[in-house]
Amino acid sequence: MPKLAQRMSRAKPSTIMLIAEKARQLKAEGRDIISFSIGVPNFLPGPHVYQAVRDWLDKDSGSYGSNRGSADLLDAFLEHMKGVGLDGYTRENCAVAVGAKHILYNLAEALLDDGDEMAFPTPYWTSYLDIAEILGAKVKLLPCPPEQHYKLTPAQLDEALASKPKIFLFNNPSNPTGMVYTKEEIAALADVLVKHPDTWVVTDDIYNRMVFDGVGYHNFVQARPELRERVIFVDSMSKTYGMPGWRVGMMAGPKAVADAVVTLNSNHITNIPEVASVAAAAALSGPQDVPTEKRAEFAKRRDLVVDILNGIEGVKCPRPQGAFYAFPDISCAFGKSHNGKRLENDVDVCTALLEAKGVACVPGSAFGEPRGLRISYTCPADELEPGMQRIRDFFAELS
Ligand code: PMP
Repeated sequence: MPKLAQRMSRAKPSTIMLIAEKARQLKAEGRDIISFSIGVPNFLPGPHVYQAVRDWLDKDSGSYGSNRGSADLLDAFLEHMKGVGLDGYTRENCAVAVGAKHILYNLAEALLDDGDEMAFPTPYWTSYLDIAEILGAKVKLLPCPPEQHYKLTPAQLDEALASKPKIFLFNNPSNPTGMVYTKEEIAALADVLVKHPDTWVVTDDIYNRMVFDGVGYHNFVQARPELRERVIFVDSMSKTYGMPGWRVGMMAGPKAVADAVVTLNSNHITNIPEVASVAAAAALSGPQDVPTEKRAEFAKRRDLVVDILNGIEGVKCPRPQGAFYAFPDISCAFGKSHNGKRLENDVDVCTALLEAKGVACVPGSAFGEPRGLRISYTCPADELEPGMQRIRDFFAELS
């Protein structure tokens, strides 16, 4: 048989998907499983989204759509951007693709030559590393341990950018930690970015509507408008509108970068499905009840999760202020045993937790921080407290 391309030896399936699949399998076998593993919003978009799709079906021309994205969707996205302080962008600055994951892949393809470096903080969202590896890019990891609340400091950024990585990839609010940078923290990082003109800044802000405690969402372009020529803002319909399966992601940035993504689209996909564009435009431009209600609900869930975690002896969980994840430091369990099984690391803890208590979480090493464990708290409401109690019981049973 002829060989697969060499790059496939570097490509691997997503760890999160593997764990979610294992949890699904155990559930299908009749086990009582509570899944805190995958970051799927457990809600649907508002009724106006489905109505817009029904109305559109009667008018569908069946034709190809625009490589950049439909005008309605681009305009709705531009309006949203104004709402988060990003004014002055036009359709030419934007492009739409099959989810933010596809946007990020397109950006990496458009901006990185072979061997170019991409720098990003750890813990990181797993696909950042996977995308870099598939494309043969070098990766510079910037460790942000629990002691610094998983946040990058200006000094770390300054040092990292001294070697002129081609891309600095930033994620705010963060998956997996739920951390949100304050206005002052963003301003301090933006001041550093200004000093390093050779680096593109890709800011993956897909949870920008999911911020709690009145901290607000802030970005580099607001802080230092001159960064507009190098910052690429990435957004998605998946999480905050309850639309992950519709596969719609967007970007806004310099026209040359948006045009590059459009060129890649024209070769890879032509356009995202028109029906998904219609749904996304309706969600962005219609009533915002769903993201607003969910934000309030997730803030309450966050309180429950973090309070239980921090009540466990030895576990430390910096308080997330956004997204729907908590990322406790569970290294206190390493070297201890559960039901006679010794737990050496985060994978052992997750495996034992799933086997003994039926709770699925993702080991922190999947995100580059092996002291952690990710809890996604989007499960059905009646599973949250029982699931967290099982975690508490598990730690109480360690010897
Ligand atoms: N970025 C981050 C930080 C994410 O958490 C995710 C989804 N888990 C994505 C990008 C990809 O989102 P999409 O569903 O739009 O591809």
